[in-house]
Amino acid sequence: MKAIIKATDQAGSLQVTDMPAPQPGPGEVLVQIKATGLCYSDVTILNNKYVGRKPVPIPLILGHEGAGLISELGRGVNAHSAGDRVVIEPLAGCGHCNQCLKGFKNMCQDWEHVGITRHGTFSEYIVVPVAQVHRIPDNVTFEEAALTEPFGLVVRSLEQSKPMAGETVAILGPGSLGIMHLLAYKASGASKVIMVGLGKDRKRFDIARTLGADHTINIEEKDPVKAILDITDGEGVDIVVETANSPKATQLTFDLVAPRGRIVLFGLYPKAEFSPVAMLRKGLSVYGDVAQVTRQFLYALKLLASDKINLLSLITRRFSFDEAPEAFEVARQGDMVKVIFKS
Ligand SMILES: [Zn+2]
Ligand SMILES: [Zn+2]
Repeated sequence: MKAIIKATDQAGSLQVTDMPAPQPGPGEVLVQIKATGLCYSDVTILNNKYVGRKPVPIPLILGHEGAGLISELGRGVNAHSAGDRVVIEPLAGCGHCNQCLKGFKNMCQDWEHVGITRHGTFSEYIVVPVAQVHRIPDNVTFEEAALTEPFGLVVRSLEQSKPMAGETVAILGPGSLGIMHLLAYKASGASKVIMVGLGKDRKRFDIARTLGADHTINIEEKDPVKAILDITDGEGVDIVVETANSPKATQLTFDLVAPRGRIVLFGLYPKAEFSPVAMLRKGLSVYGDVAQVTRQFLYALKLLASDKINLLSLITRRFSFDEAPEAFEVARQGDMVKVIFKS
């Protein structure tokens, strides 16, 4: 089978290769991948920028956002049949540590993650434990289902920030995660969603406006604090989500948010500055988290099946596995919103 791998421990060692298809063991299923999303974290793993709880095995088939057809069942699997359309939930906890027992497998220190600690979805076939596949509703395409995992992170933000109808939201970074947040907060009844980005985000701003963004702010042209105070009658926004992955964005979230506001941080950088006294005086809540639990993944899938959320307009480029170098280059440039491999 064809697969896109990180071939060596050198940064950027991308290879499209041929390898034997895996066989499902007891309790596992073999899934034929139909669509799989390229995520910024795949780019960081490839370039040795990813720091995880365990070292990344080499060689590694990349990718963790995948959907396809069950093609073979391992011994003892009755919950599915060959031919079922399924989406892969990439994270598994050890199942017996305190955090796993409390329902937080995303806090497990011994977690396994498809495409990070074990082979991923950028291949024609993948074997996963049966608990990690979920049936795709009939009205959701493979492409859309492949985006369940990133959209689950957005469901997590909704759980944390608890938006009320009529509240205002600012999203820093109009990439795929930022635009998915835009759709989710609009569907949750936000009165205004404001996208904040840079000059290079021009195309992404256009897409965001088409998808319902009330305002877009290019911080290279406008002071974002002044602009957002103007839009919100001098108050600031009730919720800020930071998906820009820049340490400067952290301080900005504290400046943009209204008193009693909520801040959700996605930045993967190790250090940033913020003012604790601003946090105290404004009475803020700040949230951080990693990956997601099954509940959030399943709610994401339900939302994709509803008419409230349609992610297809985010998919700006489709590639075959053979075109991996070009696809990774496109993702690295950050011009496009979401890149998908089809097989
Ligand atoms: Zn991802
Ligand atoms: Zn555990």
